[in-house]
Amino acid sequence: MIPADDRRTACISSQIGCPVGCKFCASGIGGLDGNLSAGRIIEQVWRLGRLPEVDRISNVVFMGMGEPLSNFQAVMAAVRRLATLPPAGLGISARKITISTVGLPHAIEKLARELELPVTLALSLHAPNDELRSTLIPWAEYTNIPELLEACQAWFAKTGREITLEYILLGGVNDRPEHARELAELAKTIRANVNLIRYNEVKGMPFDRPDDDAVRVFQDILRAKHVNTHIRASRGRDIAAACGQLRHERNG
Ligand code: SF4
Repeated sequence: MIPADDRRTACISSQIGCPVGCKFCASGIGGLDGNLSAGRIIEQVWRLGRLPEVDRISNVVFMGMGEPLSNFQAVMAAVRRLATLPPAGLGISARKITISTVGLPHAIEKLARELELPVTLALSLHAPNDELRSTLIPWAEYTNIPELLEACQAWFAKTGREITLEYILLGGVNDRPEHARELAELAKTIRANVNLIRYNEVKGMPFDRPDDDAVRVFQDILRAKHVNTHIRASRGRDIAAACGQLRHERNG
């Protein structure tokens, strides 16, 4: 549960582990153990909504473990139920629900056809060119950035809703000024805003959190090129539950 101003956001998982295996993320280390059912997905939101400090969950983001579009049916069934008014559902507007994906063009098209569920789409780009992206995201070998941008353009044409481009900043890897300039050129080809996320360290992984100066320069370059950009505040690092740190452990 992520508190911010008057929002209470449930950051939830769609799978147990993750089949994608991004090189910087703890969730993919053990691969995929299985899909979550719609009920298990909804249960996460329901339980978070029962915390004493939570009045009601206002937003939901599928940014926990898993690639939501590879568990499409269960995720859509869950979204439908979350958006249904109580008592049958939780009454969370679909507009307040974000589905984050590493990018499966066909699944993005399928999602765009769910017009009665106006969810927000977030694309985890994480690199401004295919060469670098394929070193960070193993599934990048199945698609390329031009195909993804085409799917995003089709998404906007069909839904009229802007896309969020997620970009995790890895110190010395994808956080240089030339990367920012390349990213700006991509972002300008679609109706998108860019979310910059500082990397949260994972034990045993060869990546560093970027310097504050590098993050500022990166954002300034994007803004100078008129790309709407935000730096996402880190939450949950103290309990190793921040972005990219979630993982499952087996006992025994
Ligand atoms: S960043 Fe997302 S898609 Fe990549 S391994 Fe982690 S949970 Fe899976």
